[in-house]
Amino acid sequence: MQGIMQDWQLTTNKILEHAKRINPTREIITRRVGGEIVRTSYSQLHDLSKQVSGALIEGGIGLGDRVATLGWNSARHMAAWYGTMGIGAVLHTINPRLHPDQIAWIANHAEDKVLILDTTFLPIIEAVKDKFETIKTYVIFADADNMPENSLGAIAFDDWVAGKSLNASWGDFPEETACGLCYTSGTTGNPKGVLYSHRSNVLHTMITMSKDAMGMGANDVVLPVVPMFHANAWGLAFGCPATGANMVMPGAQMDGASIYELLDTEKVTITAAVPTVWLGLLTYLRENDLKLPHLNKVLIGGSAIPDAILRAFETEYEVDVIHAWGMTETSPLGTLGSLPPHLMDADIDTRMTQKLKQGRPPFGVELKIVDDENNDLAWDGETSGRLVVRGPAIAAGYFKGDGGNVLDENGFFDTGDVANMDEFGTMQITDRAKDVIKSGGEWISSIDIENIAVGHPKVANAAAIGIYHPKWDERPLLIIQAAPGEEPSKEELLAQLEGKIAKWWTPDDVAFIDEIPLGATGKINKLKLREIFKDYKLPTA
Ligand code: ADP
Repeated sequence: MQGIMQDWQLTTNKILEHAKRINPTREIITRRVGGEIVRTSYSQLHDLSKQVSGALIEGGIGLGDRVATLGWNSARHMAAWYGTMGIGAVLHTINPRLHPDQIAWIANHAEDKVLILDTTFLPIIEAVKDKFETIKTYVIFADADNMPENSLGAIAFDDWVAGKSLNASWGDFPEETACGLCYTSGTTGNPKGVLYSHRSNVLHTMITMSKDAMGMGANDVVLPVVPMFHANAWGLAFGCPATGANMVMPGAQMDGASIYELLDTEKVTITAAVPTVWLGLLTYLRENDLKLPHLNKVLIGGSAIPDAILRAFETEYEVDVIHAWGMTETSPLGTLGSLPPHLMDADIDTRMTQKLKQGRPPFGVELKIVDDENNDLAWDGETSGRLVVRGPAIAAGYFKGDGGNVLDENGFFDTGDVANMDEFGTMQITDRAKDVIKSGGEWISSIDIENIAVGHPKVANAAAIGIYHPKWDERPLLIIQAAPGEEPSKEELLAQLEGKIAKWWTPDDVAFIDEIPLGATGKINKLKLREIFKDYKLPTA
């Protein structure tokens, strides 16, 4: 027997329609590339998005066509999204931190027809424009007065949408229709496209809004420092209009001073970014003796939170830190670190130890850890295995079938992460499968070594990689980027690790490097490091 309930298709246009109807005066506050602050209500955003749809339709864009953006977080960028998705076209966010050749490769692979970009990225695009095979229309997020000279034949965004009617019809397609495309930076091979559907994004939005997840409400003011091109600003670009939370968009300025100014003047209650952003803010706060009286919650993810950042927020500034784990393929929220009930009243060290772990999956995300034969492993907080995941907002494959079948026989997706789980479902990443150091057949967690090394005051960044060893196959090499003006010694660093890791995990050597290479999403680029150190000889070998 079937239930007798309405068929209300889960399409993303409904999010913005709801925002206009229920929270019309709540706002997106944007710091534009030029520095000025602009306020756009959800009602205005809705209408602007309709005009984008009108402009796209006029340009021959329709169901399934790809429209790319290369943009900072802004209200115009939001309008480009919703205007594209509403008519069933696919919004492809491109990460501007990629190499220009890779941007061209991705745009060709996606067969983007339109590219909308911020002025900041004009030089990158002009340099590779001859490589684009499918882009017909270039639009620049600007008005006529601020339109830069360019060789793209680009039109100003405000002119592009000016005078367009609000009549474009939205949501005339099934909820499984594709609406977003985001390429993972891919540590091996070419980048692969994750193709979100309306349904997956709406369900993911429901997940983000729950209290133990991001838990925003109409009274919140949310500052996504995390870019919209990084897995949908972790879902905030949907969750904020869905709840009516104000959004504060930092544009191109993400340094400590600029972020602080917005946190303060807009009375931001929730913010989100990768750890490196918070280092800049915390330094600025300390140097200027400032506090964060309005901020309740900071979401930190993308890579593991260093202990120092966690404790600074929680104890010096009384801000609740929510550690989050996810990936482009998981839309991206996978786990979140709200304290579980049994630890609410625990002592500070127990709470901080819990919060350093990646957290627990919300309803809608199923996690397992498995061994190499795909057998389930125990949730005892110790046993490590491959982390696999299943849910309505998890990728079932990649765009155009790249990478082949990615699901196991039970429909679980292999995250490439290695983790343990405790009896309450708290997940702790111990490594990425490809970054694990295998010594004498046993695994050494590079992440553990890195986190402890980075805790040394003379260290700016640290990475551990496996180096060939004739007896053990691989042994760890610790690579250090010293803090400005500091010269830590090998002995100091090994002393820092002593007693905190198993003795046999101790790196066989320490190497110093001016700058540890980072990938496009701000994570340590291990591939590059392995390349740099490929001929390194360990003193123990
Ligand atoms: P890429 O960095 O390759 O572009 P993603 O941005 O999708 O890909 O990153 C996903 C990966 O980032 C995860 O599989 C995991 O290895 C790492 N990651 C994300 N969040 C965390 C976290 N909180 N702690 C540790 N690692 C994390």
